[in-house]
Amino acid sequence: MKKLTVAIDGPAGAGKSTVAQLAAKELGYTYIDTGAMYRAVAWKTLQQGKPVTDDLINEVVKDIDIVLDYKEGKTKVFVDGTEVTAAIRTPEVTGIVSQVAALGPVRERLTDIQRQMGAQGAVIMDGRDIATNVLPNADVKIFLTASIEERADRRFKEMKAKGYDVDVEQLKQEIAARDKADSEREISPLVQAEDAELLDTSNMSIDEVVEAIIQRCR
Ligand code: C5P
Repeated sequence: MKKLTVAIDGPAGAGKSTVAQLAAKELGYTYIDTGAMYRAVAWKTLQQGKPVTDDLINEVVKDIDIVLDYKEGKTKVFVDGTEVTAAIRTPEVTGIVSQVAALGPVRERLTDIQRQMGAQGAVIMDGRDIATNVLPNADVKIFLTASIEERADRRFKEMKAKGYDVDVEQLKQEIAARDKADSEREISPLVQAEDAELLDTSNMSIDEVVEAIIQRCR
């Protein structure tokens, strides 16, 4: 089978990374979590211990080294040699990541890296602007979504399992705020590509979504 390039975009909490990692494993492809890269920049910015300003973020992104190590269905994330796989998922990082992702210098640098990573094919890349901007020639383009209630509920269970004391209503508001910021920003906003297929996973199991993605590839 041809080594395809698969782009999966969608709003926060739609389950993109969960299903993309599993589909990549089944297809023998590499998985690239571009959200993790924006989170990595946000994490390193917070590490500076200074007020988070656009100037500080733009300074941090200049020489950050981000490694995504995808093996057997799981991704480990490293920033300048330090593993940050769990650290980039904290509420603090989530709270500033949309500000980070709205900045031109950040998007330019990360988009360059993502295009290089995707150049070989046999890759599933997920994010917000993959089909529209990073890999506009992708062979398969999917816009994955689910109702806000379902997305908040999934995120609630995920955070609970990690030991966070979270409130589902508050999560719903945070997800809606992040989607609004990501959809309304000037550069490469979150939008369904004209040639992307909409997959609403509100009433689908993880296995069903993975199977649907693999079917598209076949
Ligand atoms: O996918 P995840 O929720 O981890 O992404 C975190 C944030 O990174 C998003 O809310 C968005 O602001 C940003 N992002 C982006 N473009 C991408 C992937 C993520 O702007 N391709």
